[in-house]
Amino acid sequence: MSEHLTIPENLLPADGRFGAGPSKVRRGQLDALLAAGTSILGTSHRQAPVKNLVKSVQEGLLDLFKAPEGYQVVMGVGGSTAFWDTASFGLVENKAQHLSFGEFGSKFAKATNTAPFLADSSIITAEPGTRPDPVAEEGVDVYAWPQNETSTGVAAPVKRVAGADEGSLVVVDATSAAGGLDVDVSETDVYYFAPQKNFASDGGLWLALFSPAALERAERVASTGRWVPDFLNLKTAIDNSAKNQTYNTPSLSTLVTLDDQVKWMLSNGGLDWATARTADSASRIYGWAEASSVATPYVVNAQDRSNVIATIDFDESVDAAAISKALRANGVVDTEPYRKLGRNQLRVATFVAIEPDDVTALTNCIDYVLENL
Ligand SMILES: *Cc1c(COP(=O)(O)O)cnc(C)c1O
Repeated sequence: MSEHLTIPENLLPADGRFGAGPSKVRRGQLDALLAAGTSILGTSHRQAPVKNLVKSVQEGLLDLFKAPEGYQVVMGVGGSTAFWDTASFGLVENKAQHLSFGEFGSKFAKATNTAPFLADSSIITAEPGTRPDPVAEEGVDVYAWPQNETSTGVAAPVKRVAGADEGSLVVVDATSAAGGLDVDVSETDVYYFAPQKNFASDGGLWLALFSPAALERAERVASTGRWVPDFLNLKTAIDNSAKNQTYNTPSLSTLVTLDDQVKWMLSNGGLDWATARTADSASRIYGWAEASSVATPYVVNAQDRSNVIATIDFDESVDAAAISKALRANGVVDTEPYRKLGRNQLRVATFVAIEPDDVTALTNCIDYVLENL
């Protein structure tokens, strides 16, 4: 029985969390949480201590992403999923174009496509494991795609769409990419994410870098009189964020651990350091798969392979689910593939918080399981 397979201690990673989100939280973040335990936690989010914490997160993110002049960090409660609805109500003027090549891209596409006050969306699809490119289209005022499709491990370039209508916006879902993949934020108008992936914090919050054009767009859409539920009101989120607040109560522990992670990245060398680290981790697992006789990277085009989510297919001689199960029984967790993808696969996060040496240890553990299962 695979559950009873014991992997030798010396092969195990120091930390066995390889999930795609929620993902590994560093010990230093927990120390920060304890330190905030009697000063921040349990205090009002309308008073200076929490507002200063929010400000620190906002300034840290502008710094980390080297945001161009005029960009602002907007935030709200509800995670990236809430942002899709918020953007459908308050950012898309009439028509969006979406790249849909996995679960997450398809969900935002569905949100704008079914909104009764918007034109049908233009949805460009590609088979899972591959990706399409955006295409300039008259009348489209928002171009949207995920930088990292977490369900498949495909990464997409972040670049403005040549020939797009003047004033159209590029809106990038960076939920699992932000802080782990390189980006030139000036190629986007909205670069949004949630903190439970590379930022190693908890879920339930959305954060977004807004360009001046996106701020202006939100202002204009709000002035049209379109009915918007208060919770999903983008203008309200922008106004609150400018005052270092959220419309309703945020999780303070999420903010504390997020702030610590941003500071940790900055103190180590910022986004260049972080992306070099994820590239190192990813090369270890992809390299292992390429050398393996039973495993292979799922994403065929090496240029599309994500450095923060590695998906590894196994041939029929191996039951990938049994590997995940054996790993889990030894404290190495969340290597299962995205449930709806239905492949004989392992999915391994290589987010910034994860030690590259632990990724190597994981490959050694997989080898051990393969030999002994
Ligand atoms: C995790 C993820 C989401 C969903 O984030 P929530 O905060 O759970 O709503 C959306 N998009 C991508 C690309 C993700 O990886």
